[in-house]
Amino acid sequence: MIDLRSDTVTRPGAAMLSAMISAETGDDVYGDDPTVNALEAEAARLSGKEAALFLPTGTQANLVALLCHCQRGEEYIVGQQAHNYKYEAGGAAVLGSIQPQPVTAAADGTLPLDLVEQFIKPDDFHFAITRLLSLENTHNGKVLPLSYLAEAWAFTRQRGLALHIDGARIFNAAVALNVGLEAIARYCDTLTICLSKGLGAPVGSLLCGSADYIQRARRWRKMTGGAMRQAGILAAAGRYALEHNVARLQEDHDNAAWLAEALQKRDVNVSRQDTNMVFVRVPEADVAPLKAWMHERGILLSTGPVTRLVTHLDVDRQALETLVSHWQAFLRARH
Ligand SMILES: *Cc1c(COP(=O)(O)O)cnc(C)c1O
Repeated sequence: MIDLRSDTVTRPGAAMLSAMISAETGDDVYGDDPTVNALEAEAARLSGKEAALFLPTGTQANLVALLCHCQRGEEYIVGQQAHNYKYEAGGAAVLGSIQPQPVTAAADGTLPLDLVEQFIKPDDFHFAITRLLSLENTHNGKVLPLSYLAEAWAFTRQRGLALHIDGARIFNAAVALNVGLEAIARYCDTLTICLSKGLGAPVGSLLCGSADYIQRARRWRKMTGGAMRQAGILAAAGRYALEHNVARLQEDHDNAAWLAEALQKRDVNVSRQDTNMVFVRVPEADVAPLKAWMHERGILLSTGPVTRLVTHLDVDRQALETLVSHWQAFLRARH
């Protein structure tokens, strides 16, 4: 199958699997797993933070981050479409009694700071206490500009807020900007990173921050059930991903740009392309037939009125050529 639903569908290749098989392990709850320790040290080094923590999923990493930043009755300001507001089952509210304050993102994926300002609650017992600004980078494939991050950083310092970045795809942003992770991470207190998307690991996320913060986060990780034992087998995949699969994200971006252009040339209504994502407008009546047409031909798509195509290390240019020709045939057959 050619699977363009998400970059989460990537599977570990032979070299990554062999790194996993030969990983040195220990009980990570005792701090004894050398491979986990090495992965956390590497994430801290790359992000320029004092420490990092390995967690099973990005959802749990964001949850632990929020639980660690905000107490019961406090709030975080977050994008209306942000993963850690909309797509994490309300975990911060359910498990932390933390109130989200969603705001609408601008077209470039940033949360306008004048808007954020309006949502910071005054110090008044009627209101929840605003603690945190949470940004997402990339957001729907969009890279937040470094100039914006610098402004958001200065703004949060001024207003006494912490700044978290949900960086599930932060390495896509770093590669698109042609900078190291630290050049982005310097503008936040904490960030999460997914190893299991374009980086190709089967499992795993990282939370990076100050030593004190990560120490506290360890307790929340334990409480939420994320402290694993011989996790070095998984951390080895993460280490492999950080070493071998970061620079190659450029290929995914180039493939997405190629795909957008190729579809456009064949009168497919491409609305935009950013980093490894292409968004296509599909007439309502075509949504289900398109899905079936592609599925019959071995192609999996997240079809909708806006269909998102995500490139990743398991789809090469040839697979995309196949997709384009099937799409063209579909349009001919339908119209
Ligand atoms: C995928 C994703 C996450 C976390 O997802 P998991 O499937 O729990 O690893 C968090 N934030 C964003 C923006 C994501 O795309």
